[in-house]
Amino acid sequence: MPNQPSYWSNPTLKEHPVTVTRCRAAGEVFEVGIKENVVRPEGGGQAGDQGTLLVQGKRVRFIDTVLRDGETTLVAEQPVQVVGATTLEVDMEWRKAMMRNHTAEHIFVGSLRRMVPDLQPGYIWIDGRHGTVEVTGRAVTIEQMITAEAEVQRVVSLNVPVTSDVVSSDSLDPSVRTREGVTSKHDMLRVVRVGEFDSSACSGTHVLNSGDIGFFKVIDYKLEESGARFEFMAGDGATELASRLLNMVLMRKHDFPFEYDQLGAVLDRAKTLLAERNELLEGFEQIMTERPLAEDVKGIAFFHEYLPGFDTGRMKHVVKKISLKGPTAMLLFSPGEKCNIVFAINELRVTAEEIAGQLIRALHGKGGGSRDLYTGGLTGVRQPRETYEQLVGSLRQLLSGL
Ligand SMILES: [Zn+2]
Repeated sequence: MPNQPSYWSNPTLKEHPVTVTRCRAAGEVFEVGIKENVVRPEGGGQAGDQGTLLVQGKRVRFIDTVLRDGETTLVAEQPVQVVGATTLEVDMEWRKAMMRNHTAEHIFVGSLRRMVPDLQPGYIWIDGRHGTVEVTGRAVTIEQMITAEAEVQRVVSLNVPVTSDVVSSDSLDPSVRTREGVTSKHDMLRVVRVGEFDSSACSGTHVLNSGDIGFFKVIDYKLEESGARFEFMAGDGATELASRLLNMVLMRKHDFPFEYDQLGAVLDRAKTLLAERNELLEGFEQIMTERPLAEDVKGIAFFHEYLPGFDTGRMKHVVKKISLKGPTAMLLFSPGEKCNIVFAINELRVTAEEIAGQLIRALHGKGGGSRDLYTGGLTGVRQPRETYEQLVGSLRQLLSGL
């Protein structure tokens, strides 16, 4: 293959002399054609290069590279003059991140394929932030995914060279991974080898040694009956994410307390507790609605309940389910960082707002509602139980004066 792009053999070269051939507006951006293929256009599931053009002392950033009529075209944020000789600077952070993600993807999929030989390559996307890859044809288990992830890390630590050469499609070794139809579409193919671990036909940018990948982590997955989808990160992005997550755990490790190994069990327990709590609330709601307990305040039935764990919606639901008969007042109170109040009345000469509104306002709370239903909230309550008792006392007094 004549004129092989420099980013195949020397991807860490940052500065390139280039010749601008054209510049035209394309919506909000400008497409700048260059003669030399020194930056990689988007394609084959890999995002385009980013960088800066230095034209007559002005720096113009390009946020993508695409192929237009066979010409390398930069997607620039500003127009540039077509003046010929110019310098292009590759955004090495973006490119190196893509190189790490891409080579890591090869090792990961190669390792999966050794465990599940019939897997076929599906959708793939790799950019400077993360990568997504799909495999189809067979099921993959979570254990196989974890084994493949560990295999990537092992190959990284062995620091094996990543090499590439261009071979004729006819003489392609059957051990080389290719996408369906690739060999018939191209006479010559570039084969990327990660030591002895993987050989794939690929036109992307890759690290020069597996050790350059640093850290590799699957960050999400979806396993299906006949295939799987993985999202992953490599290098600095993966390290930052892992560090951020571990710090979230670390900040809770001592006051909870638990050991790192128990984190999975803690999360499982939280899920169980949440389910149990909802069940408990439903049970409580049922008791309350079937056998509500009221006190008599001068002919008015006065219900009041202190309801930890209830939100406003659930309390309104309770009000709806109890059919209030005769003169009635009902206060439902849920304590928390924000205490929520639902106050309902029936057959009283005043509105719910007239009774509850003044009490809530006196406690620096807010609320509102219709004639028979008032909802409100109180923030910064230190002793919610006392506040509740206080509200009940004040309401009892107000109701007895009606
Ligand atoms: Zn590739």
